[in-house]
Amino acid sequence: MNFPYFNTKELSDGRTYNLTDPAERLQYFHAKLGSKIDEVKEYLEHNSFVGYMLAKKIAGKGTYAGKELLSYIDKHYRGYISAEEAIKALLNRSNDRVSVPSELMLTLLKREIDRVGKKALFVDGMPRSLDQISYSLYFRDLINYRNDPDFFIFIDVAEEIIDMRIRGRVVCPVCKTSKNMLTNPGKFVRHDTETGEYYLVCDNAVCPGYEKARYYSKEGDVAGKDTIAERLKSDGELMEMSMGLQGMPKVLIRSSYPVDEASEYIEDYEIQPVFKYKGTGDNIEVMTEPWIFKDDEGVDSYSIYAATYVVSMFSQIHKILVG
Ligand SMILES: [Zn+2]
Repeated sequence: MNFPYFNTKELSDGRTYNLTDPAERLQYFHAKLGSKIDEVKEYLEHNSFVGYMLAKKIAGKGTYAGKELLSYIDKHYRGYISAEEAIKALLNRSNDRVSVPSELMLTLLKREIDRVGKKALFVDGMPRSLDQISYSLYFRDLINYRNDPDFFIFIDVAEEIIDMRIRGRVVCPVCKTSKNMLTNPGKFVRHDTETGEYYLVCDNAVCPGYEKARYYSKEGDVAGKDTIAERLKSDGELMEMSMGLQGMPKVLIRSSYPVDEASEYIEDYEIQPVFKYKGTGDNIEVMTEPWIFKDDEGVDSYSIYAATYVVSMFSQIHKILVG
């Protein structure tokens, strides 16, 4: 898939923002999006839309960009419907491998949407198979959103990024908070003198394991993306097929920029770093460096922070809704 390079550099105000800090992230959005934010809010006072999210993903984790966007748009208009969640809520099943017939899934989604009332909607997990792609063309009629704009949101996440997210993820045995050794270590990093490995202990202030519980990685995660190879393949096919659909606008978001060209499109602080650790005992040093990986075409690339996905997504949605 050949996604365009969204240029956030040309939206620069010359400042640098720490995108891991919520307050600075807010300033960043305002700096990069300016009046577009109010224009979309104003639009949403009297109108809604339906956006279908499509991405290769780690089950249930692929939509952080959507969630981040939603939490950013005025709460009042928030709507987020995932096919998995709708089905789970209504059938009370926890196994997401269960295959639900398309007709049933559409009915369940419709019920869930009726329940939350008319709002701007992001639909995640539909279409989820090739035969459902054509349903998405008529879905807004089914849910009485006939006059609202609808569009696809494609998020192109390189498989190496998915691999890193799986390999690096660790979980608190007590509160189940998850972190990532490579991208999000939290406050407490420790060194295991026996194995020579670095590990995290819980920094969730309300967790009984605060500053004690050692995060662990789930069995199977060491295999990285291989554990979900089938899913990645079918998600990829689904995206390719949906890309070919005519008549519905498409929001295209890329997660990687070739190292050689990145400086033309993105700012340094928008590049997602990885964490490195040095030292032992009380003298552990936590450092970051730009993360360079091969994209799906084998090109050395950088990835961007979720906040930068949001800028790209918001700008494109603004264009569809407001013009
Ligand atoms: Zn915990």
